[in-house]
Amino acid sequence: MVNEPTWVNWGRTASCRPAAIHRPRGEEQIQELVHQAARAGRRIKAAGSGHSFTAIACTEGELLDLRDHCRVLEVDERNLRVRVESGITIADLADALAEHGLALENQGDVAYQTVSGAVSTGTHGTGERLRNLSSQVCGLTLILPDGEVLSCSAEENPEVFQVARVGLGALGVIGTLTIQCVPAFRLRSLKEPRRLDEVLERFDELCAENDHFEFFWFPHTEIVQAISNNRTDEPARPRSRLREWWDGVLMENHAFGAVQRLGQVREDWLPGLMKLSGRLLGRSERVGPSHRIFANQRLVRFAEMEYAIPRRYAVTAVQELRALFAHSPLRIGFPIEVRTSAADDIPLSPAQGRESAHVAVHVYWRRPWEAYFRQVEAIMDALEGRPHWGKLHFQRASTLRQRYPEWDRFATVRDRLDPERRFANGYLERVLGP
Ligand SMILES: Cc1cc2nc3c(=O)[nH]c(=O)nc-3n(C[C@H](O)[C@H](O)[C@H](O)COP(=O)(O)OP(=O)(O)OC[C@H]3O[C@@H](n4cnc5c(N)ncnc54)[C@H](O)[C@@H]3O)c2cc1C
Repeated sequence: MVNEPTWVNWGRTASCRPAAIHRPRGEEQIQELVHQAARAGRRIKAAGSGHSFTAIACTEGELLDLRDHCRVLEVDERNLRVRVESGITIADLADALAEHGLALENQGDVAYQTVSGAVSTGTHGTGERLRNLSSQVCGLTLILPDGEVLSCSAEENPEVFQVARVGLGALGVIGTLTIQCVPAFRLRSLKEPRRLDEVLERFDELCAENDHFEFFWFPHTEIVQAISNNRTDEPARPRSRLREWWDGVLMENHAFGAVQRLGQVREDWLPGLMKLSGRLLGRSERVGPSHRIFANQRLVRFAEMEYAIPRRYAVTAVQELRALFAHSPLRIGFPIEVRTSAADDIPLSPAQGRESAHVAVHVYWRRPWEAYFRQVEAIMDALEGRPHWGKLHFQRASTLRQRYPEWDRFATVRDRLDPERRFANGYLERVLGP
């Protein structure tokens, strides 16, 4: 069919029909493709694993699918650094690091993303003393419209490096990345049901006393699943294969998927289904290598919005969401996730200059999300919220500029590296301006 989109993201919230899709291997092939497109006056964009919910990776121009550009190039065990091609997934990188006794300091809750895609949007995990993945980047190469490869680090082209760590794909195609790692470590992971009020009351304490604390609140209930992951020297204590399948696949995915499908039948069942899901939560504990604990399987598709707000507003944000559900006809069937991260110094990072709480709302992919997300966004706007670049939101350059004190630093580098906007797309025009 003529208008059939040929590229679709994981959440089915963005799609496009690129003029051509290329699968380059190695920096030289990327250089050639970028230069050819630019010479012909065409736009070009790199896509990662399509795990952004926004149309940030979409293009009507040429698309670079970097899945074959995924080698580990160098492991520097002395300085705990690794240099990789940009299309490697976090999962593959974490496995490769484990073979060398290394690990990423922190990870998000899945590992399907490419490293370059995750870095480009400021992807983060949880932990009040830990910064996002972009902050672990200590060097990268950018392929520019004329095919030139620009190496950047704190020493080389430092101004480009400073902004390109959360570059939104707007500055060039990232060819390789050097990432600061840590010695491999194990985590003791505890998941347990708790009361929302108790978690809100003790939120600061829970964040301080755990290396990685987060919670999922089941809307229309007072039930929370609290997750604390802490470094440990204890030997690995994995779940049995049956338990692994029961918790990780059956309960978190298939049973949860069934709840979503039931909610499709009758929306007014959703509050009851949330109560039932909350009551079925059990306590589970295990010890394993960090990358196995961080990464979850996600088999139920959803749409997501996430806002980074100053950490001090975390409790207020959840209370306002609770008031929203109590006083509106909204019926929500997906838990709300609350995480934290340390401040960083990257101009367009949502956590730039402030300790942050990250509040995420989700909707089953077959359900409408816009009305809900707009109401949540109004709450986050009032709390100085900055949207995750890869998750749904309705902001524009005019509403975003004042939320980022170093906005102009990014704009200046963008004007210098891509004056003709070869790497632009509709989403970037909306959020960064033309
Ligand atoms: C199930 C699920 C779980 C998630 N969990 C988390 C989480 O725990 N924490 C969190 O913060 N986010 C999370 N996200 C969001 C996700 O991490 C980001 O949206 C991330 O950017 C997706 O990476 P990707 O490889 O799929 O990149 P894509 O979504 O394909 O692309 C993202 C951006 O990166 C650019 N890009 C990709 N490769 C290059 C390159 N080589 N050079 C230049 N630009 C490039 C693209 O052009 C685009 O602008 C989750 C998303 C999903 C679907």
